[in-house]
Amino acid sequence: MNLTDQLFPETVVPVLVPLPADRPYSYTVPDGMTVGPGSIVQVPLGPRQVAGVVWDGPTDRVDAKKLRPITHVFDCPPLDETMRRFVDWVADYTLSPPGLVVRMALRAPAAFDPEPWVEGIEATGEKPDLITSARRRLLATAEEAPAWSKSGLAHAAGVSTSVVDGLLRQGVFRTVRFPPPPAVAEPDTGYGRAVLSEDQALAAGELAAAVHRGAFAPILLEGATGSGKTEVYFEAVAKALDAGKQVLILLPEIALTQSFIDRFHARFGAPPAEWHSDVAPKKREAIWRQVAEGRVRIVAGARSSLFLPFRELGLVVVDEEHDPAYKQEDRTFYHARDMAVVRASLGGFPVILASATPSIETRVNAETGRYAHVRLKSRHGDAALPELSLVDMRRHPPARGRFVSPVLETEIRKTLARGEQALLFLNRRGYAPLTLCRVCGHRFQCHNCSTWLVDHRLRGVLQCHHCGFSTPRPEACPECGTLDHLVACGPGVERIAEEIVEDFSEARTIVLSSDIAGGPRRLRRELEAVADGEADIVIGTQLVAKGHHFPKMTLVGAIDADLGLANGDPRAAERTFQLLHQVTGRAGRTGLASRGLIQTFQPRHPVMQALVASDPESFYESEIDERRRNALPPFGRLAAIVVSADRRADAEAHAREIRKAAPEMPEIEMLGPAEAPLAVVRGRHRFRLLVEASRRAPIQAYLRETLARAPRPRGSVQLQIDVDPQSFL
Ligand code: ADP
Ligand code: ZN
Repeated sequence: MNLTDQLFPETVVPVLVPLPADRPYSYTVPDGMTVGPGSIVQVPLGPRQVAGVVWDGPTDRVDAKKLRPITHVFDCPPLDETMRRFVDWVADYTLSPPGLVVRMALRAPAAFDPEPWVEGIEATGEKPDLITSARRRLLATAEEAPAWSKSGLAHAAGVSTSVVDGLLRQGVFRTVRFPPPPAVAEPDTGYGRAVLSEDQALAAGELAAAVHRGAFAPILLEGATGSGKTEVYFEAVAKALDAGKQVLILLPEIALTQSFIDRFHARFGAPPAEWHSDVAPKKREAIWRQVAEGRVRIVAGARSSLFLPFRELGLVVVDEEHDPAYKQEDRTFYHARDMAVVRASLGGFPVILASATPSIETRVNAETGRYAHVRLKSRHGDAALPELSLVDMRRHPPARGRFVSPVLETEIRKTLARGEQALLFLNRRGYAPLTLCRVCGHRFQCHNCSTWLVDHRLRGVLQCHHCGFSTPRPEACPECGTLDHLVACGPGVERIAEEIVEDFSEARTIVLSSDIAGGPRRLRRELEAVADGEADIVIGTQLVAKGHHFPKMTLVGAIDADLGLANGDPRAAERTFQLLHQVTGRAGRTGLASRGLIQTFQPRHPVMQALVASDPESFYESEIDERRRNALPPFGRLAAIVVSADRRADAEAHAREIRKAAPEMPEIEMLGPAEAPLAVVRGRHRFRLLVEASRRAPIQAYLRETLARAPRPRGSVQLQIDVDPQSFL
C-alpha cells in the first residue's frame, strides 16, 4: 500500500474529464455510491457538470475535504481496461492531453443513460364482451406476432386506435414494455457465402487461422483492385463473429458507400452498424450504447469508430489502409491505421490492413516480417486490369485554353460509341484554381489565408479551400477597375465539364466532387446512379477513386497526373502512384476490355513508368530505397510543431524560443523554424519546426522536454504537435 492509499482511501478516485486536461482530476465518492475504473460518471467542474470516466492510478495528494463529490454514476457499461490503456497510449504517443482523447470515446452523451424501453400491447387471452367485425380483425391480427405497438396493430388490422383502447379497458389487451429495438439486425455468418477461388481461399484460410488463434497479429492483405480482398476479409469477419467477437471495419469516410453496405448485407443478411459524420444523432446514440452493451456485433465506420466502447472486440479491418483520410489533423493528430494496430496489440487480436497499393510504411513492415503478408495475385474472374498508357502532353497538347488532349478525346468517343462509360479524373474542385486580371495582373487572394481563391462558377463565387471564405465573382477588377478582363487560370472539374459538354453535347455528363450541392447524401445517390449506368461521362475528384464499383466504366483518363508530384512532400510520389493506380482501377471491373490514359508532362518520371508497366514492385523497390537513403519514414521518424499567432512576429518569436529550448539528444535534430508553405490560415500566421529522428530515438520524450523547457504560449500563440506528419503545408 502506497502513501496515497493511506492518506486517501478508496473514497477518492481519479476522473478523466473530456477537456484539454493533462491528467485525471480527483473526486470523492459519496456514501452509498459504487464506482470502479471505467465507470462513466457526472462530476462538477467549476460551475458546470460534465461527464467523465473514473480512471486508474494514484490520485492527487489533496485534502479530501477540499474535493468535490461525484454527482452521478451513469447506468452504462464501463470503459474496459483495454480501452483505458488505449486512450493513455494515444495520448502519450500524440502528445495530446488524455482528456481530449477520452472525449473521442464519449461522443454520444445521451447514450450514457439506458435507452428507454418501448411501450406496446399484448393479448391477455380474455374474451371481449361483444364481438364486432373490427374487434375480430384486431384479435386475429394480434395473433400474428407476440407483441405490437398500439398504432402498429390498429394499422395492420385496418381499424382505428379507439377500437384497441376499448379492448384495453376491458382487459383483452394489456400494456407491456419491451427492450429497445436493436440498431441493426444480427449478422448471419452463413448467409451469402461466396465461392472463393483457390487463391482467395488460401488467403482467407490464413486470415481465419489468425482469428482462430485470437492473438495480436498485424496482417497486410494486398491484391489488385478487384482481386477480391473484400470477399476474403469477409471470411475473417465471419470467423470472428462466430467466435463471439465484435468486429470493426474501418473505411475512409468517402468509401463508406451504399454499395459497400449493400455488399455487406448480401454477405451477412443484415447491414453493419454505420459510424460516420452523416449518421443521425438518434441512430448514433443507439449504436454507441449497443456497441457498449455488446448488442451491436459489427461496425463499419470512419476513423472515429476506433474510439467506440467495444466490449468484446476481436478483429479490426482497415480497408484502403494507405488512404490519407485516416490521418486526423484536428486537435488530436492521430493516424487511425496506426492506432488500429495499437488497439489490436492492446486487445490481443488480429488486425487486417487491406490495400491494392499499401503505404510504404506497411510494405516495409510486411517485408521485414513485422507484419504477415497475405497476397491475392489477380483480379477475380474475367475482370482484367485496364491497359494503361501515358499521353505525353508535350507531343499531344490540347488546343489553347483546353485540357483534354486529342488522344484522350478520341478514346472517349470510341468508349461512348460502344455504349460504355468514361471517367475523367482531376483532383481539383471548382472551375479554376486561380483568377487574375489580364490588364493589371491582380490575383484574387483570400483575405484570411495565403491562398488563391478558387473560382466556383456553378455557384458564382470565388472561394478559399482552407477557411471557406467566399465572395461573389466580380465583373470588374477590384484593383484597376477594368470590366470583363478577368481570366481563369488552370482547370478544375467544372472547367473540364465545360470542355466536355462542348465536345460531347449529346452525352450525359456528371461532375462529382465532395462539395456537391446536397451534401454526402446526394453524393451517394449520384454514385449509385453512375453505377446504374445513368451517366456517360463522369468528371470527378479523388472521391471517385475509392471503393466504387462501376460495371460499365471502361475508360479512365487522368487529366493532370503530375498535379500531386508538384508539392515538396516526402510522400508526393507514393500518393500520386496510389491515387492514379486506384483511379485507373475503376475501369474494367466486369470483364469488358478497358483502358487508362494518363496525361503527363513527365512521362519519364518513375511513378509514371511504374504505372504503365503495371509494375508496382519496381515502384515499391525504388521508393523504399529512396526513403532508406534519406532516413525518411519508416526508416526515420518525423514530428512537426506548428506555431501560429495573430501576428507574424509573435509566431516566429515563439517558434525560435522552442528551437532554443530543444535539448541535445543523440540521433534527434530539430530543423527550422521556417515560415509554413501555407503561411497564413484563417488570419493566423504559421511557422513550422520539424524534428528528425532515427527509428529508435525517443521522439516523444524529446518533444515533451522541449515543450517543458520552452516558455508557455502567451496571447494568441498556439501550438500544434503532429507526430508522424502526413501534411507538410
Ligand atoms: P477488392 O476488394 O480486392 O477490390 P472485391 O472483393 O471488391 O475486390 O471484388 C471485386 C469484384 O469481384 C466484386 O464485385 C466481387 O463481388 C467479385 N468477386 C470477388 N471474388 C469473388 C468470388 N469468389 N465469387 C464471386 N464474386 C467475387
Ligand atoms: Zn482562406
